[in-house]
Amino acid sequence: MTLQIDYKNEVLYGLLQRMAPSVGGISPILQEYWVCSIDPKNSPKLLGLIKSQFQHTVDGLQHLKRIHKENDGKGNLVLKVLLCPVQSKEFSITKEALLSMLIGATHQDNIRLEVKSIPMNKPLDKETNIKWSKEYWPLLWKGNPVVQDLNEIYKGLDINKISKYMKRIAELSKQQKTKCPVVSIFVDPSKDVIKSIRIDERCASDPIKHTVMDGIAEIADLELARRQERKVEDPKANNYLCFKYHVYTSHEPCTMCSMGLVHSRISQLVYLKPSLKTGGIGKNSGKREMIHLSCVLNWKFEAFQYLDEQLANEVEDIDPSIYV
Ligand SMILES: [Zn+2]
Repeated sequence: MTLQIDYKNEVLYGLLQRMAPSVGGISPILQEYWVCSIDPKNSPKLLGLIKSQFQHTVDGLQHLKRIHKENDGKGNLVLKVLLCPVQSKEFSITKEALLSMLIGATHQDNIRLEVKSIPMNKPLDKETNIKWSKEYWPLLWKGNPVVQDLNEIYKGLDINKISKYMKRIAELSKQQKTKCPVVSIFVDPSKDVIKSIRIDERCASDPIKHTVMDGIAEIADLELARRQERKVEDPKANNYLCFKYHVYTSHEPCTMCSMGLVHSRISQLVYLKPSLKTGGIGKNSGKREMIHLSCVLNWKFEAFQYLDEQLANEVEDIDPSIYV
């Protein structure tokens, strides 16, 4: 079977333009991490400590080497170990506490701790990988990540379902005779169930009633009602409203709505028409933030523009200065 993947342009099935940074065109997004230097003979003890205390601090950072050997300049080999962020929302430790933890585990009292700037994003080509490895911290190269990502994404896509929802979006949008005929549909893909369909209802008294925020609010209300009905704590409930949901929308969402989608933990967004001036997702939209892939946020999702020109022509353009 031939895969319908255009690797160069990152288009799947000839219909889904993936929104991701261009190869070679990215700069490192750096975060400060604690790195310790230890005697190689103490590495098993340190690895035990890392496993129990610091494993989660590099979740999602599979492009980084955790440990590497270096010459200390006096002919001795030392191991440099990436430990944890100096400061992050999820993790916080003082230098003193960290040092005493390390000494406690290894019984080596001359451990050196230093702060290093570590790239949170992975380079998209081998040359940049080598460059960043020299400049910042050794990175692993497992082949072109774009090809790997696209193959993974392709496996998880159901193009017929996506097309079905996009047609529905276009139909609903066409029926709106307003300045802002935006429509969004939230779907729980595990059951292929629509959780919310919102049509833009912004008005003078509520100008930020955007469909995406409105959809999240509707799902929040439903979840609240469900929990109140159960009266007891549901141990299986997760606290993210749209966990791994798919969102389909007629026009690319603004920055606020894109952030809302990150916070509610969706896994996939498909939009029909780009909002070049005000959008928060597209490669060339707004301030080119591509919020769905931002390395400074602790959730990412895949986003695509649906490239059906005929369908896009059926949906009204909106004033480019309007935040969708
Ligand atoms: Zn919005």
